[in-house]
Amino acid sequence: MSHEEKQLYGLIGYPVGHSFSAVMHNAAFKHLGINAEYQLFEVPPDKLEEFFKKTVFEKKIKGFNVTVPHKEQAFGLISASVSISAAMNRSVNTVSVEPDGTLSGTNTDGAGFSFDLKERGVGITGKRVVLLGAGGGAKSVATAVTALNPQRLAIFDIDHSKTEVLLGILDQYFPHVSVETVSSLDELKIPECDILINATPVGMRTDDPLLVRPEWLHSGMFVYDLIYNPQKTELLKVAEGSGCLTANGLGMLLWQGVLAFQFWTGKHAPVDVMRKALMEKINA
Ligand code: NAP
Repeated sequence: MSHEEKQLYGLIGYPVGHSFSAVMHNAAFKHLGINAEYQLFEVPPDKLEEFFKKTVFEKKIKGFNVTVPHKEQAFGLISASVSISAAMNRSVNTVSVEPDGTLSGTNTDGAGFSFDLKERGVGITGKRVVLLGAGGGAKSVATAVTALNPQRLAIFDIDHSKTEVLLGILDQYFPHVSVETVSSLDELKIPECDILINATPVGMRTDDPLLVRPEWLHSGMFVYDLIYNPQKTELLKVAEGSGCLTANGLGMLLWQGVLAFQFWTGKHAPVDVMRKALMEKINA
């Protein structure tokens, strides 16, 4: 019998207590008979550099996910290669510790979103898309959407400096796609869009306002909320009531995790095992 040391993986963020990632990765390790464990590491911003340069090696961590608020600062701490998705967004959500001790990074959030839409049979190409938010999650979604050649993408965030940064990225990588940043919700022309995506945190709390007017939503529209806890935000409830097709962000969480798992292990991730673990956790 082998007495191999247990491999350590995990998530860094601040805070991380709310995370659903451990259950899906630990279920995948167990299913594949890999002697590994995924743990949560709460790392305050002033300890991030130390984590990358010291803690990773002291704890012999093989790979880790990065979440709020570290994704952009972590990009600057990658010592080996970064993938094109990480380079475009200038942020990483997945880091692998290479055998030579260097760190390589990628960002699986955007592809996670695209895989979820593909699984749902929702296409982006030629569609009019509206995106609420221009923060970390929105950036990944925006680059994924734009790569699929929508007819138009309109973006709104209360922080206009973030929409401008995002517009700069999209113009650089996808100059042929019509992207518009607007300074009010009215200018998004939501009633005319085919796909509405919420990538703001608005809706996480029950007393959060509804960002859109219910009469803007109609059947034939697909409404996606990156929020998955609560499973059904007020936006999704109203959208459902208006006959829209809807989805929350649990599928995006699943697929970004699947891609991260494959980035670390080089093995085919057991998607349905990971999906079941996530569903059990969210319904617990
Ligand atoms: P973030 O980086 O803080 O970005 C959120 C953005 O929304 C910020 O720019 C924020 O502006 C803006 N915003 C806040 N209130 C707004 C409003 N009323 N109207 C328009 N814009 C508003 O956060 P994030 O990491 O992108 O996360 C956003 C949400 O997506 C969270 O609920 C998160 O859990 C979810 N998410 C889900 C997944 C998934 O896998 N399903 C992945 C990533 C994120 P200020 O900074 O000025 O407040």
